[in-house]
Amino acid sequence: MMRSRVISLHSLSHMLISVPSVNPKVTVMDHPMVMEQLSLVRDKRTNQVAFRKAIYRLGRFMAYEFLRTMETQEFTVETPLGPAKGGRVKGNDRIVIILVLRAAIPFVEGMYKNFPMARTGVISAWRGKPPNFPIEVNYAKIPEIGADDVIVIADPMLATGHTLREVAKRVVNQGRPKRLAFFSVIATEKGINYVAKDFPKAEFYTCAIDPALNDHGYIVPGLGDAGDRSFGAPH
Ligand code: URA
Repeated sequence: MMRSRVISLHSLSHMLISVPSVNPKVTVMDHPMVMEQLSLVRDKRTNQVAFRKAIYRLGRFMAYEFLRTMETQEFTVETPLGPAKGGRVKGNDRIVIILVLRAAIPFVEGMYKNFPMARTGVISAWRGKPPNFPIEVNYAKIPEIGADDVIVIADPMLATGHTLREVAKRVVNQGRPKRLAFFSVIATEKGINYVAKDFPKAEFYTCAIDPALNDHGYIVPGLGDAGDRSFGAPH
C-alpha cells in the first residue's frame, strides 16, 4: 500500500471553471519527511546548497515510495541457517528517467538511489512567454523505449503543463511504454489536467498541489524558480 494520498482532481475541482473530461491518477506524497523538505525548498531563506540537497532528498524519497507500485517477485534465499523468503522488485531495470533540464538535475540524482539501473533521457525544454507559452526544445537525447518500460518524467515544477506535455510527446514518439509517470515537487491542478488531456493513462506523483499560477506561469505560492534556486540565476 502506498503511504500517500491518491486523490481525484474531480474532488478538488470546485475551483475549476470547467471540470476536465479526464480524471487523472494523482498521488500526493504527504509523508512527514516530505513536509519537512518541502517546507525547506519553499522557504525563501534556504540557500542554494540546502535547496539542492532538499530537492535531492525529495527525489530519493519519491522513487522509494514509487517502488511500492512496482510488481515484486518472490524467491527463496539461502541464509547460513536455511531457506528464507526473498523478494525483488520486478522491472527496476525497466525504469527510464527523463530529466528535464535544468531544475531536475538534483531531483534525478536523488532518484538514482532507488532506481539504480535507470536509463536516462535528457531534454532541454524552454517555456516561452504567456499567453501561449510556446515550448522550445533545443536538446533531446532519449533512449530507446520498449513496451515493458516505465517512464518517469522528472521536473520539480508542474506549472502550466506546457513543457511536460511537449516532453511526453517526444518520449512516446520513441516508443510506447508500459507506464508513464510524472514526478514533480509541486504541481497545479491546471497543469495536471493540461497534460492529462493528451495522456489520460499517465500517473502523476507530487508532494503538493498549489492553488494558483501567476501571469508568468509561476506556481503560487510555489517556491520560485527551481532552476535559479538550485544553480543561481542566469544573466
Ligand atoms: N518553473 C519554476 O521553476 N517555478 C515555477 O513556479 C514554475 C515553473
